[in-house]
Amino acid sequence: MTQQEWQDRYAGALMNTFGPPKLTLTRGEGAHVWDENGKEYVDLLGGIAVNALGHGHPALVEAVTAQLSTLGHISNFFASEPQIELAEKLLALLLPVVEEGAPAPVSKPGRVFFTNSGTEANEVAFKLTRRTGRTHVVAAEGGFHGRTMGALALTSKEAYRTPFEPLPGEVTFVPYGDVDALAAAVTDRTAAVLLEPMQGEAGVVVPPDGYLAAARAIATEHGALLWLDEIQTGMGRVGRWFAHHDSVVEEVSRPVVEEGAQQPSRNQPSRNQVTPDIVTVAKGLAGGFPIGACIGLGEAGRLLEPGNHGTTFGGNPVACAAALAVIATIESEGLLEHVTVLGQKLRDGLAADPRVTEVRGEGLLIGLDLASDASAAVSAAALERGFIVNNPTPRRIRLAPPLVLTQDDANAFLTAWPRILDEAMGTQP
Ligand SMILES: *Cc1c(COP(=O)(O)O)cnc(C)c1O
Repeated sequence: MTQQEWQDRYAGALMNTFGPPKLTLTRGEGAHVWDENGKEYVDLLGGIAVNALGHGHPALVEAVTAQLSTLGHISNFFASEPQIELAEKLLALLLPVVEEGAPAPVSKPGRVFFTNSGTEANEVAFKLTRRTGRTHVVAAEGGFHGRTMGALALTSKEAYRTPFEPLPGEVTFVPYGDVDALAAAVTDRTAAVLLEPMQGEAGVVVPPDGYLAAARAIATEHGALLWLDEIQTGMGRVGRWFAHHDSVVEEVSRPVVEEGAQQPSRNQPSRNQVTPDIVTVAKGLAGGFPIGACIGLGEAGRLLEPGNHGTTFGGNPVACAAALAVIATIESEGLLEHVTVLGQKLRDGLAADPRVTEVRGEGLLIGLDLASDASAAVSAAALERGFIVNNPTPRRIRLAPPLVLTQDDANAFLTAWPRILDEAMGTQP
């Protein structure tokens, strides 16, 4: 079948919410995908920061196959080992200090609610914030939290919101990264402050140093919850388990001290480390198998009570087994370090071209600004040359490749990059 025939069938059978698809894909392996003509592409978008282990990773295939052939779906009238294990694992990853320091914790550090997507995880969190007895939420301009009515109410973009108003909630949007604006918006009536540690859909916008710590302090001062949406940034994407954790690079580059010598100072305020009350994750969590999670830490984990929320599929054993396999593989293959090193090489290489005015992000969540509004043309030229990239705004390109992207694939893209820009933006002066 030709590309046009696929397009016609698609348009005739699927609602037109996404516009025409770029391609019809048939197969994937690692960070590569193939279209129906057999043309090969390096997938530098990874299903929008989802395919952490790339396509067809044996660990993920085996985990899903084994679980599905043992016990697939059971509903939340029943529990399963993968579900309990995954909840415990997420809490341990989220609060490593608590896990290391505490001897057999009497009260667990938090509680998890599993969903099937990111927007659903945010719906859980939104409902959870209502259980504080307050209804006001402060969120950021440029933020993205999903397309269901609650998550949409927390998303600032007019084009997404306007057709569906009135939306639930009492939401104040503040400029992202502006501490003073946040301090002015949060009051003693505020239930929660909702932020992404980096704004993914906006084209990977990174806040100034100390912004999350300031948000933590402001929320605490007013008795509000700090809710971090790590749906795109979490689960290893930025080279550490969560973007609000300290960076691995800082750990690695800390000077080695001789025994007895003074420890390097840890008093310096950390750039990222804060302790939130709520964290939502999804996207890369199970490497492409649909899942999301709302994690309430401390008291926030106990705000939802029996009957307050529910889901039929959420937390099913197959999705949880898939997530456990992804996490185990990230650990066993040392992917956090790989992502940190490869991401830096990619950013340096992309920034070397004068038609790129800024490169942002950490690990393999990369955003860059072009010198002109050429992102659609750049994305098309890249596709033509066999590279899948994303153009979230007219001037911005986003990359969120599989965490298993190889050095060779990264090099191939960096080699093609100046040619891609030539084709899309004209040759360098
Ligand atoms: C993708 C995304 C969502 C929505 O997740 P879906 O699975 O598409 O519902 C919410 N928040 C952030 C930060 C995201 O990147």
